[in-house]
Amino acid sequence: MARPRIRVIPLGGIGEVGKNCTVYEYRGDMIMVDLGTKFPEEEMRGVDLIVPDISYVVQNIDRLRAILLTHGHEDHIGGLPYLLPLLKSRAPIPIYGSALAIAYVRAKLDEAGVTNLAQFQIIEPRQQYRLGKHFTAEFIPVTHSIPGSFAIGLKTVLGWLVHTGDYKFDPTPPLGPPTDEARLREIGDEGVLLLLSDAVRVERPGHTPSEAVVSETLYRTIGAAKGRVVLTSFASNITRIDQAIRAGYRHGRRVAISGRSMEQSTRIAMELGYLTPPDGVIVPVDVATKLPRDQVLFLTTGSQGEASAALARIASGEHPAIRIQKGDTVIFSATPVPGNEETVSQTIDQLFRRGADVIYSAIEPTIHVSGHASREELKFMLRLIRPRFVIPIHGEYRHLSLYRDLAMDVGYGEQQVLIPDLGCEISLGRDSARREGTVESGAVLVDILGNRNVILRQRSEIAKAGVIIATMIVDRESGNLIAGPDVSAQGLDGQIEPWVLERAEEELKKFLEKRQKGGFSYGYLVSRTKNVLSRQIYRHAKMRPMIMPVISEL
Ligand SMILES: [Zn+2]
Ligand SMILES: [Zn+2]
Repeated sequence: MARPRIRVIPLGGIGEVGKNCTVYEYRGDMIMVDLGTKFPEEEMRGVDLIVPDISYVVQNIDRLRAILLTHGHEDHIGGLPYLLPLLKSRAPIPIYGSALAIAYVRAKLDEAGVTNLAQFQIIEPRQQYRLGKHFTAEFIPVTHSIPGSFAIGLKTVLGWLVHTGDYKFDPTPPLGPPTDEARLREIGDEGVLLLLSDAVRVERPGHTPSEAVVSETLYRTIGAAKGRVVLTSFASNITRIDQAIRAGYRHGRRVAISGRSMEQSTRIAMELGYLTPPDGVIVPVDVATKLPRDQVLFLTTGSQGEASAALARIASGEHPAIRIQKGDTVIFSATPVPGNEETVSQTIDQLFRRGADVIYSAIEPTIHVSGHASREELKFMLRLIRPRFVIPIHGEYRHLSLYRDLAMDVGYGEQQVLIPDLGCEISLGRDSARREGTVESGAVLVDILGNRNVILRQRSEIAKAGVIIATMIVDRESGNLIAGPDVSAQGLDGQIEPWVLERAEEELKKFLEKRQKGGFSYGYLVSRTKNVLSRQIYRHAKMRPMIMPVISEL
């Protein structure tokens, strides 16, 4: 009989940045590492989020022993509220992670009303957790842009499997411990069969600069600002939020947080003691807006140009409390994720138009540094771990390909570096690694139609079920509606009566006319169009077809 082999199946994060998810299997035990989301590309109108297709896990649910989380970023945990319900036949599912990652997941599951599907285990470094008969997991601290980030080691009789998660080697991290090089080296000494390494920054030579550099730049730019300062970053970049609060505080500014996801992420991080702002520095938004302009710092969501986020509303003048005027400063302490460049540059333009001084990385390169390892750090990880085989993950195809070259520079042979496709089964024995079959995989589209009203859609089903298309033309400069909206059904063959569509179109028209003043931002139009139409069509036809707003700018 053939010796049992380990199987590794990436279900997300390969050939893309986002929706990270990897399955490890050995002799009837299955472990899942991370379950993230991805932002849709701009052409995917009407889709709110993308999550991995986990049909394979659902079909083999009796083997699933646990879901392990490397850290609390959306691209690693965001899929849980949508996908955990698919695993409910084996609920509660054990979920392991840092206190912070678990608290974020718990908040998401609470909101979705599915907390009962999970059984949480907060991990401690240097502890080992037995998972099923054949895996033992250990979490090894790494530096990233959020505290509570870990590489995960899975011990098997064939050797260790090390999954780095997102990491870098920051010798002077402002929050949390540095990467535990000593433990990684020890694991390397014990024998590592396979390393899965974050590869997303492989294009960058040298080392990623320390976060300490960003702290200095923030201190300097906030110090130079005359009016209000609005700083945007990822809601879950807790390290950056801490740096910004401290920089603001040192310049005598109070700090107010605007944007639901950032309010929530900072509140949780403070409750757990990861964030410890000086007393009294954090104030509510309505208090901050009454303070003199040079004594306040707003931290907001929207660094990716997201339409519904606080910054987009500040930029378009729609924010209920925060107004920008000439002489105010807006700081982007983040870079756009691939695919978001265009919406981010539109937001920057809008802010300039309002008279703000906008600071972003093209102007001030150290206003942000990546949370990911550059080339020398990637090599250093290989030297610490010394795996027999290596698979790059967390990257577009070019990143994976460049990582293979890097590994070969360090002395790895071509057969030792595997670049899988999504759903590809990599099979490993003590001395061999090969690609075997593939499992069902890909993208599932998440359509959010208001509170707790979420629909998961497979692409093939959308084609079958039909879509509602709403077209309109908007003046690129003023944002005013020039023509439309026009609502039509495609592939719904008589399932929706014409009067329902006409009524829905009427309602949308009325809504848009009422909100015309001051123009529209693209994303606002997308989300409101979906909401108005979906409500109308559900009311009259009791259906929830996919709604695709097609907005042309002239
Ligand atoms: Zn991350
Ligand atoms: Zn990530």
